[in-house]
Amino acid sequence: MPNDFAQSVKEQTDIVKIIGDYVRLKKAGAQNYTGLCPFHKEKTPSFSVHAGRQFFNCFGCHEHGDVFTFVQKIENVGFSEAVRTVAQKAGIPLPKREFTSPEEAAEHRQRGKLLELHEVATAWFEEQLRSPEGALAREYLTGRGLTADGIAKFRIGFAPDSYRALGERLQSLADQETLRLSGLFSWKEQEDGSPGRGVPGEPPRRGMGPLYARFRKRIMFPIANEAGRVIAFTARTLETGEKAGPKYLNSPETPLYSKSHVLFNLDKARQAIRQDGGAVLVEGQMDCISVFLAGIPNVLATSGTAFTESQTRLLRRYATRVIVNFDPDTAGANAAEKSIALLTQEGFEVRVLTLEGGLDPDRYVRDRGARAYVDALRAAPSFQDYLVERARQLFPSRDPKSKTEALNFLLPHIRRIPSRIARDAFAIDAAQALGIDSALVRAELKEAAAKRRDSISSHAQPLTHAERILLQAFSAPRSSEAYIVAEGAAHQHEPDFASMRSDVREMVEQLRARPDGADPLAAITDPAHRQLLAELFLSIHDTEPEPDEVDAAVLAIRRQGIEHEQRQLRADLERAERAGHADDILRLTRAIQNATVRLREVDWS
Ligand SMILES: [Zn+2]
Repeated sequence: MPNDFAQSVKEQTDIVKIIGDYVRLKKAGAQNYTGLCPFHKEKTPSFSVHAGRQFFNCFGCHEHGDVFTFVQKIENVGFSEAVRTVAQKAGIPLPKREFTSPEEAAEHRQRGKLLELHEVATAWFEEQLRSPEGALAREYLTGRGLTADGIAKFRIGFAPDSYRALGERLQSLADQETLRLSGLFSWKEQEDGSPGRGVPGEPPRRGMGPLYARFRKRIMFPIANEAGRVIAFTARTLETGEKAGPKYLNSPETPLYSKSHVLFNLDKARQAIRQDGGAVLVEGQMDCISVFLAGIPNVLATSGTAFTESQTRLLRRYATRVIVNFDPDTAGANAAEKSIALLTQEGFEVRVLTLEGGLDPDRYVRDRGARAYVDALRAAPSFQDYLVERARQLFPSRDPKSKTEALNFLLPHIRRIPSRIARDAFAIDAAQALGIDSALVRAELKEAAAKRRDSISSHAQPLTHAERILLQAFSAPRSSEAYIVAEGAAHQHEPDFASMRSDVREMVEQLRARPDGADPLAAITDPAHRQLLAELFLSIHDTEPEPDEVDAAVLAIRRQGIEHEQRQLRADLERAERAGHADDILRLTRAIQNATVRLREVDWS
């Protein structure tokens, strides 16, 4: 952006007005305004803005500069973006943007279009929630303690039970391709890959083509980017029973939205997080909304998955401390462990809150009030204490073997801590809590570091990628797509699964046999296997693999199994030939042929 434009923007704006959007300012002199500094935490104002000289200064943290510096800092953007923001706030028309290539220009146009579609859709869903058809949805939201204010603040809406209505609202705004890219629609494809005829059982309509609304009869929670623009939705079903589909349905990945790069509520929470330096991390959108509306402004949600690396980087720009408050169930505990691993590695100060009574944050805030929740946050233990406790729960027995397992569970976490001093302190604490000689622990740590592995005395063969995916899938909740796909394959291809590597096969069997909702680690009886699984959980970031990853893993496992079987059969055949046992030769030859056919089937799937 040309500098004379910046100059002219600066001349036409009043810094007091712009900063006044972010900070409550009080007049403190002829030209002087003061307020609480947005860049550091304080109770008495040391932040002042000078109207005559058009600058700001903080006597506490020494931040200072002009209107652009302020916007750059508070919005976390570069200079040109700050100029653009200030110009927009002041109503100054922007010069035409120049692009380096036609592709870039097209991409920019497309993004703009997609943002517009999301904005119009959000307003439309809000409208539907207020309509008579939205009565059930309103009832549900009221039941969860949401007021009209809260609903408006988070722009919660309702997608009616219609395949067509949203499309009719949006079709004049964008072409089919853009509508398709928005993630707001689904479509049926013919077997030959050509677009289908739309809603099953309905004749195709002109204009709307084969697209139909992805979200129907669901409560719509908009997901916004850092700047507060809606880029995706999470939709909760109002239907019960078999036809309900998943409880929560999310927008797919689109040019605007990538699940692992977004933190829910960052747009509303980031200023509070920056001032405080700390963030509360919860799993679900409803948890986040309840906690936020209860007056705890620095809360974010990961949208039901463990933290990802991109999310860590995003958070890094605002916070140095995090309190992780996931659901107390197994999936929540696993997600918490994975998140802890990532956050400590990035040098965050991490604490972990487990709410008493097995409550999730939403329930807790509603049942016991905001004050009690704040107290619980204050009392949350450090991640070290949390992990030691978790190790003791997973490996409760006090014999030396169990102690070693508990230590093995902790070692990867200890090793991830960037500071050597903090690492040693954790090792000593862990040793004390587990009743192990701390000199031994430190020696093991050193040895493990030297050998570049996370575990002591573990001789297990490393897992292949496919085995990892499969174990992950079978560890997922029964109702998850990953589990369903894996279970279906195990059922259908029993003989191929039977020739899987024995320890993995045993783990898979035990995971499949566990009661619904039970802790996968608790289902594994062999401690070495449990350790293998614990290490797997710690090394992955996403809770569940995608269904097509599971499909690919199943194929790889089947291939490995059959190949293993073939090798054995060939060895047997060789022996039978040497011994001249005609019956065995015939039987084994047939078996090898049969395996070859099965292998070909795998290759063709
Ligand atoms: Zn300051």
